[in-house]
Amino acid sequence: MRLDRPIVFGNWKMNGLRAEGLALAGALAERAVRLSGTLGIFPPFTILHAVAQRVRETAILVGGQDCHERAFGAFTGCVSAPMLVDAGARAVILGHSERRHGLGETDALVRAKLQAARAAGLLVVLCVGETEEERLAGKCEERLRAQLEGSLPPGIGPEGLVVAYEPVWAIGTGRTPTAQDIGSTHAALRSMLKRCVVGGEEVPILYGGSVKPENAAEIMATEGVDGVLVGGASLDARAFWSIYQAGGGA
Ligand code: PEP
Repeated sequence: MRLDRPIVFGNWKMNGLRAEGLALAGALAERAVRLSGTLGIFPPFTILHAVAQRVRETAILVGGQDCHERAFGAFTGCVSAPMLVDAGARAVILGHSERRHGLGETDALVRAKLQAARAAGLLVVLCVGETEEERLAGKCEERLRAQLEGSLPPGIGPEGLVVAYEPVWAIGTGRTPTAQDIGSTHAALRSMLKRCVVGGEEVPILYGGSVKPENAAEIMATEGVDGVLVGGASLDARAFWSIYQAGGGA
């Protein structure tokens, strides 16, 4: 899948009943029939199919927010990667900190899910990020390296893989690292990816954590930032679109 820059993805999290989700998708669809960059939305499972249908005439990518590591079976309440594809998804977010920290997902589980998602042909947006405690202890890079090494199968190639650097302490808090910090962490991630991925220089690296229209231009102008993963601000079509434009998207 071709991923033109800027890459701007919106994680709706557990937000969006059918009417509001379709209204949001419709408002984006009006703006995004053709795109110079890559715009993706990740609605909740319950409206994924309806949203995918709503934007099917556009260039908007639709994805799921998680998938199970198995393709089918006795796993009550879970959704598999082939089910996401069947519902119209072309991508999936894996390893989001709200799942790693809130639901106890381990790197090994994220790796199994990643393999399942790739087997189903989904683009994987792999999230990594340090907690504030780890950052203050000077363990940011160590944590990111462990997450990448634990979540990426040996010998993996760059196709269908995007990494999102999301400091846990920046998600939904209104706080962000400085552009300089984002730049140096992305540079560190790039060298880690060159070691963990065959062709790791090609994997796009997004920044995520309190991205808003006001800070998007500076963040996306930072060297090594290929785009952003947006939570809260992606629930407002105008804000989300202006973030995309701030990164040079048209
Ligand atoms: C996220 O949850 O991936 C995220 C980046 O959230 P927010 O933009 O609200 O900080």
